[in-house]
Amino acid sequence: MMLPTHVLVGLALATPVAMNASATGGADLATPILLGAILGSVFPDLDVFADHRRTLHYPTIYPLCAVPSVALAVFVSTPVTVGLAAGIVAAALHCRMDRYGGSREFRPWERKSDRGVYDHVGGRWLRAKRWTRYDGSPRDLLVAGVAGIVPLTLLDGPVHTIALGALTVAVAYTAFRRPISRVADGVADAIRRAVTRVGDGFERR
Ligand SMILES: [Zn+2]
Repeated sequence: MMLPTHVLVGLALATPVAMNASATGGADLATPILLGAILGSVFPDLDVFADHRRTLHYPTIYPLCAVPSVALAVFVSTPVTVGLAAGIVAAALHCRMDRYGGSREFRPWERKSDRGVYDHVGGRWLRAKRWTRYDGSPRDLLVAGVAGIVPLTLLDGPVHTIALGALTVAVAYTAFRRPISRVADGVADAIRRAVTRVGDGFERR
């Protein structure tokens, strides 16, 4: 799924936890919980510059790490432990969600690959289930919109702004997801033709 959807789902889960922390006297814990959820939602997709959905995606290991980290945060509630727990839970959720979206290919609607997310424990790619078809699909946007209701109605301040920004990016990304791929194809073709022309020029000399 697209990055804004991950952020909004992470925030949808973290918002009630942060509000509960504030209501029970842990006001200093609310910000680390929300910040941890945002960073944890974003972190796995930093591997878009490496082997995407493999290098930083751990659909089994993050959930396994989430259990002790949440337990630690419950029994020793400090800004660091709750922020870390929120981050790991959000990263776990991100990697599981990627499996329910489309494959990791550039044009996932063509369905040339079934690779959803890599499971390092099993040593294999988990098949994309395509419940939301592909990243930037209308269904993906629907998930983002529904998840966004929670932080947008219950929070204010900077995190509300971040949620609003994420939803705006989600709408724009959905609108341009397919045109972007066509533009990228056009640019790649133009580069290929230019390289071929230069190569022909050298051969004629
Ligand atoms: Zn991802």
